[in-house]
Amino acid sequence: MPTRWKLNTGAEIPAIGFGTWQDQSEQEAAVAEAIKAGYRHIDTARVYGTEEAVGNGVKKSGIPRNDIFITTKLWNNKHHPDDVESALQQSLNDLKMDYVDLYLMHWPVAWKRGEDLFPKENGKPAMESIDIVDVWCHLRSRVMMPRVLTKAQTYKAMEKLLKTGKAKAIGVSNCDQSEMMRLVNECTIVPAVHQIECHPWLQQHDFTEWHRKHGIHVTHYSPFGNLNTIYSAKGKGGTEKLVEEPVLIEIGRQYERTAAQVALAWGVSQGHSVLPKSKTPARIRSNLDGDFKLSPEDMAKIAQINRKIRFNDSSGEFGRDFFVDLEGK
Ligand code: NDP
Repeated sequence: MPTRWKLNTGAEIPAIGFGTWQDQSEQEAAVAEAIKAGYRHIDTARVYGTEEAVGNGVKKSGIPRNDIFITTKLWNNKHHPDDVESALQQSLNDLKMDYVDLYLMHWPVAWKRGEDLFPKENGKPAMESIDIVDVWCHLRSRVMMPRVLTKAQTYKAMEKLLKTGKAKAIGVSNCDQSEMMRLVNECTIVPAVHQIECHPWLQQHDFTEWHRKHGIHVTHYSPFGNLNTIYSAKGKGGTEKLVEEPVLIEIGRQYERTAAQVALAWGVSQGHSVLPKSKTPARIRSNLDGDFKLSPEDMAKIAQINRKIRFNDSSGEFGRDFFVDLEGK
């Protein structure tokens, strides 16, 4: 029986989900293959351009919509509170669905309102001005953390989505500790999920433990460190690949599993969900076998290989430098 975790909404999220970022044109077939193989959790986002493919893939699979957990995400150009519901509706239209199981704020960064997904000003991301928040927040934000308060406004608009039934749960992605604390303190609904980059080379134990205490489920994205050339080399792990990490290979031998499956099991063993992406049928199937528990001894061995390598460090490109305290230190 595939593992599922309970969210603070009472709903269940499958521990192994299917990622759909990149290889856009291959996602419809990949999603259909994934559902056929047994995945019941598909992760997409407005900015991936894969919502339509996900909707088609789900339909093609013949599995009822209600049996599948669908996550999509609000993109940075739709953070104005007045844009949030229509942004979700656009996603639903492409998915050809009435609701998503989870709607996430993709990045805690408000970009210029409009249809341009990557608005630029002088070569940099065009940020939305602070006047999108109310007067009290505006005055306060001039002296402290304007973006966080802006995010609280966006998030408050997301809270209203729950009443529409178009999103069954809401959450965030790519937030740092201070942003999470503000969301917990200033908003009514505790995020159900925080989706962050997490894998054996970026373990984030203190931060994920904080989430556990606050009842926020953690989902690992890029559980293999992405492996896409434009992101993974970038002066971080060089040419090394997480799926070739000797410690994971060695641990995998005992369980007759691959290093990739051990990387997934490392997340599942902590009560987190993981989102492997693959367009390759054999890998799509084999990644599901990452759904098992590692022994405390093997978890301790993996704790030794935390290199703190982040593959999706978009601080420059996203116009913010917020990764410094992600580990809660
Ligand atoms: P992953 O860490 O899942 O790595 C994907 C890469 O690994 C692909 O190149 C894939 O190749 C390869 N791969 C898959 N399975 C195996 C295997 N068993 N052995 C060896 N290589 C393998 O990358 P992503 O960055 O895509 O992360 C997964 C998902 O997380 C995304 O698709 C997206 O849904 C989500 N995400 C969310 C983000 C956010 O900001 N919230 C940011 C990044 C990702 P191939 O496809 O050729 O088989």
